[in-house]
Amino acid sequence: MTKHNFEAETWRVLELLTHSIYSNKEIFLRELISNSSDAIDKARIKSLTDSNYLNKWEKFGIKVESDKKAWTITITDNGIGMSEDNMIKNLGTIAKSGTKEFIDKLKKAKDETENNLIGQFWVGFYSAFMIADKIEVESKEKWKKAAKWISDWKTGYDIADSDKKERWTTITIYVNKESKEFLEDWKLKELVKKYSNYVWVPIMMLEYDSRTDDEKKKEPKEMWFEQVNETKPIWKKNKSEIKKEEYKTFYQSISSDWNEPLFSMHNNVEWMVSYKSILFAPKEVNMYQNLSDPNVEYGPKLYVNNVLILEHAKELMPIWLRFISGVIETSDLPLNISREMLQDNATLDKIKKGLTKKVISELKKTFKNNKEDYLKFWTNYGKVIKEWIHYETDLKDSIAEISLFKWINNSDYISLDEYLETVPEKENEIEKDGKKEKIKEKTIYYIIAKSESEALASPYMAQFKEKNIDVLILTDHIDSFLVQWFNEYKWSKLLSITANDIELEKKSEEEKKKEEEKIKDFKWLLDLTKSTIWEEKIESVIFNDKLGDAFWALKTPSTWVDPQMEKMMKAMGQDVPVQKRILELNPKNSLIDSMKSEFDKDIKSEKLQDIIKYAYNQAILLEWGELENPAEFIWLTNKFASWYIK
Ligand code: ADP
Repeated sequence: MTKHNFEAETWRVLELLTHSIYSNKEIFLRELISNSSDAIDKARIKSLTDSNYLNKWEKFGIKVESDKKAWTITITDNGIGMSEDNMIKNLGTIAKSGTKEFIDKLKKAKDETENNLIGQFWVGFYSAFMIADKIEVESKEKWKKAAKWISDWKTGYDIADSDKKERWTTITIYVNKESKEFLEDWKLKELVKKYSNYVWVPIMMLEYDSRTDDEKKKEPKEMWFEQVNETKPIWKKNKSEIKKEEYKTFYQSISSDWNEPLFSMHNNVEWMVSYKSILFAPKEVNMYQNLSDPNVEYGPKLYVNNVLILEHAKELMPIWLRFISGVIETSDLPLNISREMLQDNATLDKIKKGLTKKVISELKKTFKNNKEDYLKFWTNYGKVIKEWIHYETDLKDSIAEISLFKWINNSDYISLDEYLETVPEKENEIEKDGKKEKIKEKTIYYIIAKSESEALASPYMAQFKEKNIDVLILTDHIDSFLVQWFNEYKWSKLLSITANDIELEKKSEEEKKKEEEKIKDFKWLLDLTKSTIWEEKIESVIFNDKLGDAFWALKTPSTWVDPQMEKMMKAMGQDVPVQKRILELNPKNSLIDSMKSEFDKDIKSEKLQDIIKYAYNQAILLEWGELENPAEFIWLTNKFASWYIK
């Protein structure tokens, strides 16, 4: 026998679990049964490729027994089993990412909330210590030596030899005084029904004998094991037979999400390919799903003729829908199909296409009928959906229809269709077959910015605010890519307000003339600006009278890479050539007139150059750009401050 210690994190969880309130305790059975059914799934997969793996007589199942005299509950399964090494690896540490998160939360939580947290997490095997003084796990992996794991939790755990011959796992819980109730058969059955009814392996328990102990003694009777759970898979049932609550329980059991799903979608397809599917979209953030890591397993479970082939069939779900969970069952694939064969499989491809369309249309329906929940969903998963831009071309418009955006007039999100209702039509002239033609168009205006506050502070926003025309605010990293390939929606163009010369109101001839004169008057300023700022940075200096209060703004010509994208490319180590910008001066700003009088006094005034440098840096800061020479900027600021106080 060898003595081992738990990891520090495990101690923390055990400490907490063993002091947990009563209402949490009953989840122990759900956790152990779920482990058993996972172990059986693994064994089933092994048996597909190895005909010697299973005994001829063997049927998969989980057995739950209690012994009132010995104060024990045992859970036995003929799953994959555990060798000594695996026991040490799996039962001495906490590996599951969600559990780590659980511990982090615990560290922050107060005592009373600690207890509420337990019910919301899949704490796994250790939950059995809530009702136990001691736990023994005896197990054997095929072709390996059997072993025994024993722990009273307080003193770590022991590993001992075992002479078990068959590949299966028995977990014996020595029930503590406070948890006597769980020794009752009826109680255990109730828990199986409540939490594990749809586990897809028979859960066997001794049939219930309602007679008193005396009656049983008088007339002994042989008791049989009977199946307690319903193993008919939920996806094979008639939709009309299934209650909403059952979908929810099923969702929670396969996704580990503790919340309700946004929707469940049950389909039975018999056209081109035949398959049954139940898919779920989450609403809240699921702690157990790591969406940021692209290598993480995702996708629904894949069954072929009742046999689980893949835990996560990536081949059935596009990566930008990786938060969708569920089950697909088909008989159109061979049972012994390997992962490699799945990669370019025409049947799977057809199913994938069908499912993708169905998910999109279900999301559309949810957006229409249940906006509040959809908004929550979008806040949590919108960023992932936007990744479609890298993968889909045919579905552009339908994905755009379910996409939401931030906009200036409201803190909520808006869809493109809703947005289009708010913008006025504009009359434009186009050339068609050599003739000029007037057409009415709507434009979708957007601004790419690091944050909403940056977007709102942009000088280019001024005319939109004034005219009360909405602008979509794109603040996600991926947005710069998105608008590169997605620039038209239902015949309306998407237009960046910082990269295009947008005139919301046509100028009169008189106004145009005035402007031209001003430009002539101020040509010196445009030239001076150009020569003061490093020419490689500036393509041209022009006037723009639609900048609100700002003195100037930096425009990115629409043929150049957007500044946000430029930052991202640099961060990824890509070479980005120096991008020339267009500097726009606001002729309506009174500073221009003061500069003119300074110029009239002294053509070579240093003050003018200082102001130009200062304002250029300001324009860069306004878009969260990097200053070339921060020291110079600070020096200038101090210089201005000392003038101000004089
Ligand atoms: P989780 O199931 O979330 O991974 P647990 O703490 O419940 O976390 O279990 C830890 C690991 O122990 C499992 O991942 C599995 O490898 C192993 N394990 C637990 N129960 C069994 C079992 N009945 N048969 C085989 N392996 C098991």
